[in-house]
Amino acid sequence: MDLLEHQGKEYFARYGIPVSTGVVATTVEDAAAAAEAAGYPAVVKAQVHVGGRGKAGGVKVVGDRAAAEAAAGAILGMSIKGHTVQRVLVERATAIAEEYYASFTLDRAAKLHLGMLSRQGGVEIEQVAESDPAAIARLHVDPVDGLAEEAASQWVAGAGLPDEAVPVVLALYRCFVEGDADLVEVNPLVRTDDGRVLALDAKVTLDDNAAFRHPDWDEYRGTQHLDERERLAREKGLQYIGLDGSVGIIANGAGLAMSTLDVVNQVGGRPANFLDIGGGASAEVMANALEVINTDENVRAIFVNIFGGITRGEEVANGIVQAMGRVTLNAPVVIRLDGTNADQGRAILAEHESDRLMSRPTMLDAARTAVELAGA
Ligand code: GDP
Ligand code: MN
Repeated sequence: MDLLEHQGKEYFARYGIPVSTGVVATTVEDAAAAAEAAGYPAVVKAQVHVGGRGKAGGVKVVGDRAAAEAAAGAILGMSIKGHTVQRVLVERATAIAEEYYASFTLDRAAKLHLGMLSRQGGVEIEQVAESDPAAIARLHVDPVDGLAEEAASQWVAGAGLPDEAVPVVLALYRCFVEGDADLVEVNPLVRTDDGRVLALDAKVTLDDNAAFRHPDWDEYRGTQHLDERERLAREKGLQYIGLDGSVGIIANGAGLAMSTLDVVNQVGGRPANFLDIGGGASAEVMANALEVINTDENVRAIFVNIFGGITRGEEVANGIVQAMGRVTLNAPVVIRLDGTNADQGRAILAEHESDRLMSRPTMLDAARTAVELAGA
């Protein structure tokens, strides 16, 4: 789950990271009032789940009330990379001496945490990585050992950041670990004219798998940017990720779902989604899954790939048949059923075989049929 800047700053502040503070406004009137209260110069910033707001005109420094009104009027309702701005953050502008970059994320290949620091902040880090890779100081941190003060000091000095950044970097690491984030990024981290180091921007991605121990995260859900398919899937408790192909996918088990995407790709098709319905395949769950896939207008064929384990083949087949009776589908369904009692299951599917429901004996056959039907 991605946080908006103002939410990320509030999250940072919990861990003692100094941040610029402001007020969130959804109307021009409230934004102007917030600027008046903050004092000038003030800064008006679009709150959307994408970066590059500055470049897109979504960040404006203003000198008086009229300018604040004009900025809020221009930014509210603006579209940044397809995200419509519904709220702005209004802060007293910070007097910047220098802009840096700081982040922590997980380096999956190295199985370590990865910290990055740079004196070239305020620009996209990907750009720095390309034009001047030596300007980024990387530090691998073993999650078991954590980040020691000594190591942090050396890293900060090596990156050319001031000593004042050391406690900030330590707090940022604590926020990353204890806050269960997949990513914490500060761009820019600034040194102010009066020598303080603080976070002027915040990008935080929380690890959804840790949500169970953070009931307070619920407040962030309301502002999530989900597409209609993902919203419905979440409501139904399904593990769904929307993609942009034309073959809808339903499988039981994350590994099988991933393999199903691979096979569809292998035979020249493009998956419309990842959907893991978990161990069972009851009519209820199957109907929910089909309903979610049905809201995707790009879907031309649906590939249901089920390996019966504890759930027996005939139960799965009955579940699919019942589910299809409940949902009027826009696309034909191709089923590959294997595992426990697959023969009984296939016999049931055979009774219902039509140009809307097809059963195929292997994963490859089913993928080929689905991709053909999708016209890919
Ligand atoms: P992003 O473009 O989406 O990453 O938005 P940022 O929050 O990083 O803002 C972009 C740029 O606007 C920063 O790099 C700063 O140069 C500038 N900016 C943002 N807030 C302030 C501020 O309080 N004072 C000043 N002087 N500049 C600011
Ligand atoms: Mn930024």
